[in-house]
Amino acid sequence: MTARLPASTVANGEGVPPICAKHGDPATRRRPVSFRSLPPAWSYLLILLAVLPFAIVASIFQKRVRVPNWPFCAKCGRLRVLRLLSGIGLMLLGFVGVIGFSAVLPPESSATGVVVIFCFLMLFAGLVIAGRTGWTTIASGYVSMDGSTLHVRRPHPRFAEATAGRPDRP
Ligand SMILES: [Zn+2]
Repeated sequence: MTARLPASTVANGEGVPPICAKHGDPATRRRPVSFRSLPPAWSYLLILLAVLPFAIVASIFQKRVRVPNWPFCAKCGRLRVLRLLSGIGLMLLGFVGVIGFSAVLPPESSATGVVVIFCFLMLFAGLVIAGRTGWTTIASGYVSMDGSTLHVRRPHPRFAEATAGRPDRP
């Protein structure tokens, strides 16, 4: 389910309700957010050839809508801090684990490899989580292929009601 907003209007900062799209609470802050369209489905076939042509084609077809005043609530702010802290925490744990376990455990033990790989995965997971702290990621929206409509993923019912009156189905 997505909430649909006309891209041309929201790009001017109009028609964006003062309600958090994720939590339905009154917006306590507004931030500029750049939404992008998803790559065309067929372009994923290019990944089979190589990642570079896919990236080029995807960026050519990508539509962007920059909304100057996207609404966020206090929960969004907390979510951001939580993701940042847990991401950094995981990265630190993973980093300390890789260094610590490879120093402590005997290198010939098969458990050492497993533990070190686990710590590397933790480091990577922390990096991914910490990378999801941007306002754009929190806003969780995408632009339609023709660039005319902004879709908000899993909008709060109050936001959906304020934008269209009725949320659409995919
Ligand atoms: Zn919120």
